[in-house]
Amino acid sequence: MRMPLIAGNWKMNGTLALIERFGQAFAETGLAPSVEVALMPPAPYLAAAQDALGATPVMLGAQTLNPEPSGAHTGEVSGAMLAEFGVRYVLVGHSERRSLYHEDDVAVLARVRAAHGAGLTPVLCLGETLAERESGHSEAVVLSQLEAVFDSLDYDARGCVVIAYEPVWAIGTGRTATPAQAQAMHAAIRTRLGDYDVDLAARLRLLYGGSMKADNAAELLAQPDIDGGLVGGASLKVDDFLAICQSAG
Ligand code: PEP
Repeated sequence: MRMPLIAGNWKMNGTLALIERFGQAFAETGLAPSVEVALMPPAPYLAAAQDALGATPVMLGAQTLNPEPSGAHTGEVSGAMLAEFGVRYVLVGHSERRSLYHEDDVAVLARVRAAHGAGLTPVLCLGETLAERESGHSEAVVLSQLEAVFDSLDYDARGCVVIAYEPVWAIGTGRTATPAQAQAMHAAIRTRLGDYDVDLAARLRLLYGGSMKADNAAELLAQPDIDGGLVGGASLKVDDFLAICQSAG
């Protein structure tokens, strides 16, 4: 009932040539109709990605947005600008934005609202650090990041969010959460969502992110509460990313 979503977060990587290669590969290979795929290149590549992927089922995503609709925010990009390039999904609260750019829960909520205002679906990233996991606080940290957003949204807005659980210690480290660790956190998130609304909990998609690769994706995606993946490093390799998409389909 929940269609899996595989989203490729290129971070500050990639080239125009790589966009072309992805366009060709997805045009040749196609995708199972039972899986959704989104590619999230850096903002300057969105126009080229829109062209290259236009004939494929791959959707476009972005990596961040400014909470304001326009104005004196040098270097920033608004939700409306992303929407003009056909962007459907936008990452919000990625751990790199939280740690490197000091985006706290208030900033994350503002970006979720801005995404909704522009007609985009935010992919809300949640995750604990290694220290938080080792001190036994993983679940409390993740649920408090969730509540910081969901407590302030109404029913309709809550229904228009994709959640990505990304343990910070697994992002870009090659260290993946075990399927059991990931499933346990996803189940805890879904249970907490059930306190807001049982139907909401059943229908929201929860992605896993953190060193997902072609050789571990199938096992992670087989977990009952894992509805897809947010893929960083492996989304820069055409064959690996295709293989992950295929294991979700
Ligand atoms: C990410 O940046 O969201 C991510 C999951 O990265 P990686 O797959 O490289 O760990």
